[in-house]
Amino acid sequence: MNDQTPTLKCPQCGQPMTVPVTARIIDRSRDPVTRRAFVRQRDLQFCSQKCGGHYQMGCEG
Ligand SMILES: [Zn+2]
Repeated sequence: MNDQTPTLKCPQCGQPMTVPVTARIIDRSRDPVTRRAFVRQRDLQFCSQKCGGHYQMGCEG
């Protein structure tokens, strides 16, 4: 029996996400051409809001 369900893993803790939650991650990046800083928003899925919060903190440094 093949399991066709892709297992999504939390980008923060690496655990399989049984019930993914979406968290908005805001980080800053710099345009390589114009060298201007800009704010980037991404909706990423995590195993919990807690992991989303940790990931966001990592982005802020
Ligand atoms: Zn996690």
